[in-house]
Amino acid sequence: MTHEAGIPLGIRFKLLSDTPQDSAAQVAGEVVVGDYRDLETLRAFARGCDVITFDHEHVPTEHLRALEADGIPVRPGPDALVHAQDKGVMRARLTEIGAPCPRHRIVADPADVAAFAEEGDGFPVVLKTVRGGYDGKGVWVVRSEADAAEPFRAGVPVLAEEMVPFRRELAANIVRSPHGQAVAYPVVESRQVDGVCDTVIAPAPGLSEELSGQAQELALRIADELGVVGHLAVELFETEDGRVLVNELAMRPHNSGHWTMDGAVTSQFANHVRAVLDLPLGDPRPRAPWTVMCNVLGGDYPDMYAAYLHCMARDPQLKIHMYGKDVKPGRKVGHVNTYGDDLDAVLERARHAAGYLRGTITE
Ligand code: ADP
Repeated sequence: MTHEAGIPLGIRFKLLSDTPQDSAAQVAGEVVVGDYRDLETLRAFARGCDVITFDHEHVPTEHLRALEADGIPVRPGPDALVHAQDKGVMRARLTEIGAPCPRHRIVADPADVAAFAEEGDGFPVVLKTVRGGYDGKGVWVVRSEADAAEPFRAGVPVLAEEMVPFRRELAANIVRSPHGQAVAYPVVESRQVDGVCDTVIAPAPGLSEELSGQAQELALRIADELGVVGHLAVELFETEDGRVLVNELAMRPHNSGHWTMDGAVTSQFANHVRAVLDLPLGDPRPRAPWTVMCNVLGGDYPDMYAAYLHCMARDPQLKIHMYGKDVKPGRKVGHVNTYGDDLDAVLERARHAAGYLRGTITE
């Protein structure tokens, strides 16, 4: 999708991909298959690139520092990106700059988790491995000391957080360029099912202008303090008493911004490309009062294309984005966007299409 955004600007992408089957590898012009954890592979790949960016955050920080030392611009740079790679580093830095976070600390073992619980309101406590988690993997809700052994088995430091009784989850998406220009998209509501993002509503329904402004300002301040270049998603909890707390950061186009492909004047992908190239950023404003994005998860039907006939005939305004991935149950294989004036109708259209593509709705 980032490649797609670069095409009208005549930007050529070279892609480092794990396998030839990866979604981006199916469409990018020049594809190198290799391991992003191997420094020599990265060095050979980077030769001749004007600038490097990412669609995931797992490239080792020290390798990115080595590329920078070789003179290759890396955007976002490793000193910013580390805050999206390591939840321990992220919490420490956000606390330092006064960004509101859940109560937290690094814990050594299950007894220390019990001590952390004691220091606050007791169990349950949320445990997270500081690196390598995604879509709820690497996150545990534990209800007792005996429950807390599992996260320590990976040998990665473990972060404990208070369990926030949030009203809902929000995301503040912004894009920042090296010369310091930044744009903020409307704050969205993000609904998760089993730890996986299911639906995003733009803008977040019923969110006060004050809280939405606070969330946008917070995201802009974090980007500025951390020196982020490109798209930054700040995942937030809206608390029962009307505050926002930061859950985590993503420094790349993000699922909570997929609605912008059809719902905003300039998509997150187009603005990410512009930021990485230090070009002026595009208008982030929405095109319609409401836009809804629903993820399409793999279901029992391996052939999702058969559902196009029904979905396209039922809703000519529907926008379908499929990723060319093999369909496996629960895997994100695409998303749909709908927009319009009436939120209930827009939600129903997106849910119907995503459900039909997945095979959970058949008529
Ligand atoms: P991932 O890296 O997998 O996205 P997150 O840190 O975003 O992990 O956690 C996944 C989900 O777990 C969140 O979207 C939220 O629903 C829940 N969660 C995470 N941290 C907390 C917390 N401190 N309190 C309550 N729920 C949490």
